[in-house]
Amino acid sequence: MNIALIAHDKKKDDLLAFVAQHKEVFSQHELFATGTTGLRINELTDLPIHRFKSGPLGGDQEIGARIANQEINVVFFFRDPLTAQPHEPDVSALIRLGDVYQIPIATNIGMAKVLINAIIRNEV
Ligand code: PGA
Repeated sequence: MNIALIAHDKKKDDLLAFVAQHKEVFSQHELFATGTTGLRINELTDLPIHRFKSGPLGGDQEIGARIANQEINVVFFFRDPLTAQPHEPDVSALIRLGDVYQIPIATNIGMAKVLINAIIRNEV
């Protein structure tokens, strides 16, 4: 399965901890990420990750394009709901495309736990 990983700055530590905790699961899949998120996950876990541009520089749109091409199956996108993002239109566009193509997107740790368990059980 192709999994996309994205986290806004204040949520990066949460996503890093989550990926590290489930490294064994993530290691069985193809990973894609926005630039900084991918770099930090790779540094922490050594997992191979295809990195796109940084989110504010177009990375969200690159992942959105992959979703539109049906090349991404699942997205973990830890959003920061309390900080204005300069690339908010790109964030909304990515989430919208997820809905268009009915891709599961976990935007917080609560949903991420549900989604990772579904992945483990091959239910996605
Ligand atoms: P980043 O982008 O991983 O390059 O920080 C994430 C985002 O803000 O969309």
